[in-house]
Amino acid sequence: MSVASTEHLSQRILQMEESATIKMAQMARDLAAKGHDVISLSLGEPDFDTPVHIKEAAKKALDEGYTKYTPVPGLVELRKAIQTKFKRDNGLEFDLNQIVVSNGAKQSIANICMAMLNEGDEVVILAPYWVSYAAIVQLAGGVPVEVSAGIEKDYKITPDQLRSALSPRTKAVLFSSPCNPTGSVYSKEELEALADVIAGQEGVYIISDEIYEYINFTGQHASIGAYEPVKDRTITVNGFSKGFAMTGWRLGYMGAPASIAEACAKMQGQFTSGATAFGQAAAAHALLSDMSPTHEMRDAFLKRRDMMIDKLSQIPGMKVNRPQGAFYIFPDISDYFGKKAGSQTIHNADDFCEYLLEQAHVATVSGTAFGAPDCFRISYAASEAELEKAVKRIQDAVANLQA
Ligand code: PMP
Ligand code: GLU
Repeated sequence: MSVASTEHLSQRILQMEESATIKMAQMARDLAAKGHDVISLSLGEPDFDTPVHIKEAAKKALDEGYTKYTPVPGLVELRKAIQTKFKRDNGLEFDLNQIVVSNGAKQSIANICMAMLNEGDEVVILAPYWVSYAAIVQLAGGVPVEVSAGIEKDYKITPDQLRSALSPRTKAVLFSSPCNPTGSVYSKEELEALADVIAGQEGVYIISDEIYEYINFTGQHASIGAYEPVKDRTITVNGFSKGFAMTGWRLGYMGAPASIAEACAKMQGQFTSGATAFGQAAAAHALLSDMSPTHEMRDAFLKRRDMMIDKLSQIPGMKVNRPQGAFYIFPDISDYFGKKAGSQTIHNADDFCEYLLEQAHVATVSGTAFGAPDCFRISYAASEAELEKAVKRIQDAVANLQA
């Protein structure tokens, strides 16, 4: 059998899209390995290290013997810390059997979809959306249904749009706020208006991905699950990767109706078991101790956002809004479509990102993977010096485009 043959692979994997964020980050690493000075603004990963007190807690946990399998849904001490956090920060009340810890929020979302979806069930995804949502829904046999808003609406959809996307087959509505890739934040009132639409149709659940909760510049994070009409139908997903700069620790969690949480634990019990023991012990410490490193990171992101918006908005043809959270900027670049750089024509956002990578050595991610083909994503989780250099390169590359 030739190495390139794929006959032995399942339809499931052959039909699945590779993660565009991870692919682009790898392309940037490959180019850098060839000796090019690449600035990677592709991956959604804080450039900060995990706060020292959390690392110390993990070292201590190792020494104390946190080296064994934990209960599948997570250490009791971590689930208790999550229970406290949900109440303290989100106004959400969960019993311990409603909380499941996983290897990243990504696995939490996969568990939920695997546990809830039957073949053909529809999941309404608010677009632009995070790359993995559609792939996970499809893997679980579901059908993603996109509802989309453009930059002129700050990438936020209306209740009427949501209403027309619901069908008798709708099982769940899935979104992130603060949003990856747009950085948009739905206000409490906007969330409640969407929730009212969902509350009007029996059997529709909400999967609220709040992983960017602590990187919110509005001063107020709202959890849709705290709204009474949808309280018992909301699954709140969160994790440690972003707010605590713990991407490599692989720790996420959910709070859900008990039947769903228990089904997710059952799924995880066959797939991966519990998350790393000493990491969980440190995560419990993270939630219950000094949050000032998290707030300092948020403030640094805010400063970078303003610097980036000021500079990007001066580039002719680059349409930007002012995102209220996360660490992404999502410009609309449709003005460049049809323009040329030498013999190369920019037909779409994929071409634009490829052009930026090859000519400017700046790695970003095309909006196509996020359900927004007119846009591209810049992750500003990089130092100010690197960001300034990257914007200058983008500006020069755009200036070389001819009608
Ligand atoms: N949700 C969103 C919106 C994300 O951007 C990411 C990527 N970090 C995840 C979930 C998954 O995060 P993790 O698996 O690292 O907890
Ligand atoms: N979620 C991050 C991103 O959007 C990390 C990569 C990934 O898990 O897709 O870039």
